[in-house]
Amino acid sequence: MTGEILVLATRNPGKVRELRSLLGAWTLELRSLDDLGFDEVLEEPGPGYTENALAKAVAVCRATDLPALADDSGIEVDALRGWPGPLSARWMGDQATDEDRLVGLIAEVERRTPDDRRARYVCVAALARPGTDPVTAHGECFGSIVSPTRGTNGFGYDPGFLSLDLGITFAEAPEEDKARVSHRARALARLGESGVFEPPPFV
Ligand code: IMP
Repeated sequence: MTGEILVLATRNPGKVRELRSLLGAWTLELRSLDDLGFDEVLEEPGPGYTENALAKAVAVCRATDLPALADDSGIEVDALRGWPGPLSARWMGDQATDEDRLVGLIAEVERRTPDDRRARYVCVAALARPGTDPVTAHGECFGSIVSPTRGTNGFGYDPGFLSLDLGITFAEAPEEDKARVSHRARALARLGESGVFEPPPFV
């Protein structure tokens, strides 16, 4: 895929920003849902990342007749058997903010598993194109939950996620450093390896 329009099938501004920068090296014309006036709710039928990513990419591809890329992602605490996982955006209800969820996750970790803070971010990226079967790819990165939180970059749980690759939290890391090691970067790189895009230069 080169020179084509690609719709970013997400309403999360943090993801849109990262996907734009991760895909910047590819010769694609990126469009957001807002650019296209797409206002339907993107359903996440679950239970897993793959079902959710596929559902979002396929819904947008069908409605727009354009290639669409979706990402479903989450943070998993090892000692909590992977919780909150695919529920990362929703486990506190619709009214909670990113900050509420981060404070809540740290409280859960400190209450239930203070000595084992290992965690990972997981991402499944899905690409749906008119007339072909959709493809998915998976990426992970490892770290631990820290408090007090550190840094103001990134989004979501980043100020509380100490990256094993970088030795600092994702919110302390410059965008280009997170982009070298993140779950989202790794999932997109794998999608590239499956031949749908040319691999980006950071792989
Ligand atoms: P969903 O994929 O839209 O269901 O939401 C994933 C949720 O996981 C986000 O809203 C964040 O809370 C969290 N998340 C996923 N990726 C990241 C990341 O790179 N940084 C911080 N939080 C993330």
